[in-house]
Amino acid sequence: MRRQYCTYCNSEAITRVPERGVKLCRDHFVQFFETEIENVIERYQMLQGVRRLLIAVSGGKDSIALLHVLRKISERRGIDLVGATIDLGIEGYSEHCVEISRRHYERLGVPYLIVKLEDYGFTIDKAKKYEKSVRPVCSVCGLVKRYLLNKVALELNCDAIATGHNLVDVAQYMVANFLSGSLDALLKLRPVTRGEDLLVTRVRPFFFMHERYIELYVNILGLEYVSERCPYSMRGAEGRDMPFQEYLRTVLLELDLRYPGTLYRSVHSFVRNVLPVLERLSVRRGERVGRCAICGMPTQEEGRVCAFCKIRDILSKAN
Ligand SMILES: [Zn+2]
Ligand SMILES: [Zn+2]
Repeated sequence: MRRQYCTYCNSEAITRVPERGVKLCRDHFVQFFETEIENVIERYQMLQGVRRLLIAVSGGKDSIALLHVLRKISERRGIDLVGATIDLGIEGYSEHCVEISRRHYERLGVPYLIVKLEDYGFTIDKAKKYEKSVRPVCSVCGLVKRYLLNKVALELNCDAIATGHNLVDVAQYMVANFLSGSLDALLKLRPVTRGEDLLVTRVRPFFFMHERYIELYVNILGLEYVSERCPYSMRGAEGRDMPFQEYLRTVLLELDLRYPGTLYRSVHSFVRNVLPVLERLSVRRGERVGRCAICGMPTQEEGRVCAFCKIRDILSKAN
């Protein structure tokens, strides 16, 4: 096999970046990766006016890579970086996620907080057990993370929350919501969601970054991460039993392998061409937001109790 050389130097290339039409060696790849993230942060003004930034770390490759990149960037910009890891209470899984996250925080000297869901009266294991009477466990998990991260960010006076959602997550969410016609959900799909009222600004620096590059980045730097998927995300694993979302992801990844750069271009054109149209048509605009009677957080739920407090109430009483 012919050796491939880096587009920028005489070293051997370790990867192609079809989105950019280049081949890169180890060092130039790391440089490409970090510069790319910094450029996205600049282009979408993700850190403008941010003095303290909360980063959500699950222990997976995305959040571990983000922690490393953001620590460098925030140090240069004089931003206080604070880590938050939610212990979801998934037996045989969460302990590992918390432990890996903790090790990275300590090695990097990033102050952090471990939030135990159990302290709120339930765990994701319990949500799984009562899935049929509440809502699908993955939906509870997503809600719990959004709610708790926002709460922690408010308590710690953070101006923004950074999460590690990557290009493939974004593409998957985009296609799934197109297929189901959930246009309101698509409106939430953006690199930055500006905060309002008690909702803290959300930034997603990996919005355009393919997970393949994130994996390569953590491997090159030798960063340990939780590689097992959440036990609740992979029922049936392969074939016909594969849940819809997992299957959709597989199809999108295959599509991108055959036609490199497809996901990158689709997500870019979504942000550039589709989002502005959706915004103009948005029916949510001006919709009234009330306050939860229990926790005081903004909610659009009927009866003035937010979705988190409703679930918390049901699950903490169940046994
Ligand atoms: Zn090079
Ligand atoms: Zn509430």
